[in-house]
Amino acid sequence: MLDEFREAFDKRYETVKEEKANGKGAVGWMCNYVPEEIFHAAGYNPIRVLGKEGETTMADAYLYTNMCTLVRSCLEEGFNKGFDFLDGMVAVNTCDHVRRFYDVWSRYIPTPFIHELFVPHKVNEHSERFFTEEVTQLKEKFEEYSGKKITDDKLSESIKLYNRARSLLREISETRKADPPPITGEEFLEVMLPGLVLPKEKHVEMLEGYLQELKGKKAEDDDRLRIYLLGSELDNTEYIRIIEDAGGLVVADDLCTGAKYFLDDVEENGDPVAAISRRYLKRAECPRMRPADTRLKRIADTIEEYDIDAVVLEVIKFCNLYGEDYPILKKALDKLDVPVLMISREYSTAGVGQIRTRVEAFFESIT
Ligand code: SF4
Repeated sequence: MLDEFREAFDKRYETVKEEKANGKGAVGWMCNYVPEEIFHAAGYNPIRVLGKEGETTMADAYLYTNMCTLVRSCLEEGFNKGFDFLDGMVAVNTCDHVRRFYDVWSRYIPTPFIHELFVPHKVNEHSERFFTEEVTQLKEKFEEYSGKKITDDKLSESIKLYNRARSLLREISETRKADPPPITGEEFLEVMLPGLVLPKEKHVEMLEGYLQELKGKKAEDDDRLRIYLLGSELDNTEYIRIIEDAGGLVVADDLCTGAKYFLDDVEENGDPVAAISRRYLKRAECPRMRPADTRLKRIADTIEEYDIDAVVLEVIKFCNLYGEDYPILKKALDKLDVPVLMISREYSTAGVGQIRTRVEAFFESIT
């Protein structure tokens, strides 16, 4: 069934375009803080904007040289008309890089609905109120654009569907607590990725089938190091394959395209907009949120629950959020006596040879 996930991811935009031809539009989003349920409840497919392998000549002309290659690649795809089918684009004030992405996109890439969502850097009652207003404004602006009323009933249905997808992903991910796990890190990413870009109903159906298959699977002995993979966006399985070929086995992650996407549910009772706002503000935090305590606790708990031998932090070059976080993370991991390797990588797979050498040397040094 893994082939099915691979194929679905490769043909992601074809599926979304087919749905569009049948009347269901699509809204692109950049950063996990965008509440997808709002667009789904309006009858649209929310999809994560991803980049592509290759040159980023156009984006380079519009962005500073120290912008991360993820943002560069996504923007290039926009300039290349790869996202011409989108009805909307929503970005977040995640970091300066995404803000510049939004500035350029909103000015030069014609998209009918465009919005920047402001997410506070702290979680408290004031920021919760502020963010609920932000989400309410987003909902109202999208209702006005689409001419469709986003009712509480529709939002509740979308919340249930997204919670179902999240709980299935958690269940599949948690099978990796076993030693040996029935699924590798590379396989898990293959299962996860289509969920970011396919109609949610389709992904849920695939996950349900896959979970059944997994329950009947017998894991083979595996003496590789149990690795916890941290970082932001990762949509190329090659980076996990390097770790797994070198003697590690990724049994847990804290990626934007992994656990940070599915760890928390939206409450199903009460005011749906308030519940969505709470979930997205308080969801598994990334280093943009302050203080770091909750995130470091989540990391420490995962290390214990998944019996982690070592941590690998993948930082996309020029990502100041994850780069600046390294000393904080290293200090916390030193206290737990867990070795960590930080890899600085491009969004594309350029320079994988060098990374392979560093990973192999790291594993050799800790075994
Ligand atoms: S990789 Fe870092 S700098 Fe780039 S968009 Fe993500 S958080 Fe921002």
